[in-house]
Amino acid sequence: MDLWDARAAILCGDLSLGELVDSLWERIGALEEKIQAFLSLADPAALKTAEESLAERPLRGIPIAIKDNISTVDFPTTCGSRFLERFRPVFDATAVARLRGAGAQVQGKTNLDEFAMGSSTEHSAFGPTRNPHDPERVPGGSSGGSAAAVAAGEALAALGTDTGGSVRQPAALCGVVGLRPTYGLVSRWGLVAFASSLDQIGPITRSVRDCALILSLIAGHDPRDSTSLPVEPRDYTQDLEGGIEGWKFGLPQEYRPRELGPEALSLVDRWASAIEELGGKVVEISLPLTEYALPTYYLIASAEASANLARFDGVRYTTSAPGETVKEMIATSRTLGFGREVKRRIMLGTFALSAGYYDRYYGKAQRVRTLIAREFEEAFQEVDIIFGPTSPTPAFRFGEKEDPIAMYLSDIFTLPSALAGVPAISIPGGEIGGLPFGLQLIAPRLGEGKLLRAAYALEGVLSR
Ligand code: GLN
Repeated sequence: MDLWDARAAILCGDLSLGELVDSLWERIGALEEKIQAFLSLADPAALKTAEESLAERPLRGIPIAIKDNISTVDFPTTCGSRFLERFRPVFDATAVARLRGAGAQVQGKTNLDEFAMGSSTEHSAFGPTRNPHDPERVPGGSSGGSAAAVAAGEALAALGTDTGGSVRQPAALCGVVGLRPTYGLVSRWGLVAFASSLDQIGPITRSVRDCALILSLIAGHDPRDSTSLPVEPRDYTQDLEGGIEGWKFGLPQEYRPRELGPEALSLVDRWASAIEELGGKVVEISLPLTEYALPTYYLIASAEASANLARFDGVRYTTSAPGETVKEMIATSRTLGFGREVKRRIMLGTFALSAGYYDRYYGKAQRVRTLIAREFEEAFQEVDIIFGPTSPTPAFRFGEKEDPIAMYLSDIFTLPSALAGVPAISIPGGEIGGLPFGLQLIAPRLGEGKLLRAAYALEGVLSR
């Protein structure tokens, strides 16, 4: 059952909110000890009592899981970090407030790599989440808890965040749907900032229609986020039908390197045939700057992270560590509070921004970013949608990517579109060795309607 079906069943009286909550908690009872998707959970009894007051709203009291770097007044917001272990925001993020306004309830907060830096949830200070398809493997990251909860049936839908791939890559590795909206379409107010010029909140769901439904509720201008686009909310579920007859789909040669291996390459071929079966046309294109996306992203994202994380000084948000002087107190707090990967990013970013190196690293990365965005713009003069794998491999084993570069490489196909600020979705695209493998579709800026329509059509063929 997806969110769509659950809502319909509640509406026509076939299902009560109480029964829905019971069935979710039955899954949680059976699986959560092993999966560890949640960092905190609502009291199911309290969720059930909301039945009457929320019955008239579009989401009718349905519980939705929220990644733990998105602020919620009634739950801690830890960002997967020791530093914020006891932090409780005094306001809801706009995306959460809008979901609540639509009648949703916060089901709990999901695990993530510390401050959303990572691709496996192994960097969470509270232990990793496990992939429901194989508990020996990672769920992807950084929104691994959200993706695993949805894949395991512990949640109907979740919010994640995507800075360079953190909604799409875990969705791909867990076999669910994940959308990164156009930069600025969903408010970042209340999202704990990692890299402000890249961060976006996006839905992780069981179906494309659920994704359209959640997006419709959270998108639209917010005066409290200065990067929010002046876009009116709209109903993306109206865009789903209609198919892709006559649409042109570009397959960049850089997104199907031979190193993918025979099974992944044959899935890419299968996607191309599915597109043609639906009346679309597949054309080979080239995005030659793809190889520069990784160094560009890690310079920009780390530089912004080093500035954003400066606010964690042991005084605000959290309890401080002891020290003889203020400087010592701050240093001790940051030494104890942050994990290894976060420290690596802060050091890399501080170096990239330091006087004398600023133009050589950060400035240059900004210029390459502009070129990457332009490359997408040009490609979209030729094609309606760009497609390829979401991630180069299915879920990997715990500990397999100890080398940071190996971990960073699992985002090579999601970083370029994040830098360009264009929307992209991952949908289940088949299996490799019994593990899910994601198909990524990318659309021009604010092309969410088209993107969801293509994803909906392909989901219909690929899930047969
Ligand atoms: N894995 C990438 C990183 O570690 C992307 C993370 C994200 O999108 N939040 O930065």
